[in-house]
Amino acid sequence: MPLPDLAPEHLVVLVLGPGKGELILVRVPPDAWMVVDGCGAERVHYAIEVLTQYRARPRIVLLTHPHDDHSWGVARVIEVSTPRDRKETWPRIGMVLPPGDDVAARSAGFIAGVTRQAIAVVQSRWSASPACRWDVNAGDLELLGDATLRVLSPRADVRAQQLELWRTRQSFDRNVISTALLLTWRGRRVLLGSDLVESPGDGWSHTLVLEPELGDHELLKVPHHGSDQALHDDVLRPRARVPEPLRVFTPYGPSRLPRFLPGEGAHRVVSHGGTSYLTGLPRRHVEQSGRPEARTLTELRTHDAISFDPRTTGFPDCYILVSIPPDGGPPRIEQGPGSVRVVPDSIGAASAGRFERIVGDEL
Ligand SMILES: [Zn+2]
Repeated sequence: MPLPDLAPEHLVVLVLGPGKGELILVRVPPDAWMVVDGCGAERVHYAIEVLTQYRARPRIVLLTHPHDDHSWGVARVIEVSTPRDRKETWPRIGMVLPPGDDVAARSAGFIAGVTRQAIAVVQSRWSASPACRWDVNAGDLELLGDATLRVLSPRADVRAQQLELWRTRQSFDRNVISTALLLTWRGRRVLLGSDLVESPGDGWSHTLVLEPELGDHELLKVPHHGSDQALHDDVLRPRARVPEPLRVFTPYGPSRLPRFLPGEGAHRVVSHGGTSYLTGLPRRHVEQSGRPEARTLTELRTHDAISFDPRTTGFPDCYILVSIPPDGGPPRIEQGPGSVRVVPDSIGAASAGRFERIVGDEL
């Protein structure tokens, strides 16, 4: 089963998260692609599969922070998009450069496996072609086709302080140096929250100083899998221009994020309004659903009790595709198998399916 066809004139944001981690692809029409982080399941590189199907070549590749659930497959995307004999075609490659003189020193005690490999590949391309280097400093503006990206985090002093902790091998939270991005296209705004947290580090308070109206967005990729520590009410409170924004969560199975109890994580996001989707439940990929789902918050509170039949047959699955038209019309949403639309409890579980059909008819 293929991924959906893309409307040629639309801004497209594709969020994938098959049980652990996340990958985001953005297509600014007609063909300016950006790949943010990476994920995979059952040995399938999700980013490579998406790029192959859409015959896409990224203009920007970004590793938002050095955690394995975001760096899976990033090295491979960079390898296939940086042919040695055509450096003029290479994408801009963004990353907060770790401290120290070599990868081994930077990695000791903190970084291993796929993240170490991703950092090494980024560095090798940066030295082979300095023009592709993007240091993602807060406040940076970068073009993606006719869209503008603004780097929101980490603030310069926080970044320097955290990198010093890293250099001196003291423990620190790598989510604090996550790169959050605000994409603006024809007056539409998409906030990609990466794993930026409010605690520790006051990350979202700092970004709100830079960009006070962050709540004004069509779409929020919810930061850090919807953990409480990553949420800030001023980012979640919808503004008048877009009273019903879209929120997309990716799950992180090992820490069972997001959580759905009243006042926690996903419940808190949903209570601010808008429409929320999960790319999957916080569980292993093989236990995700084989079709698009709609579940109430009450059902999701005890999501361990939900078993799916059929279960996923693999990629393409566990995705939400948001397609934003150029004329100011409402975004269209396509749910991949395994993804879940969160239904407000007032609608009730029994009518969730009916509501799904009504929404489907409008699309
Ligand atoms: Zn992280």
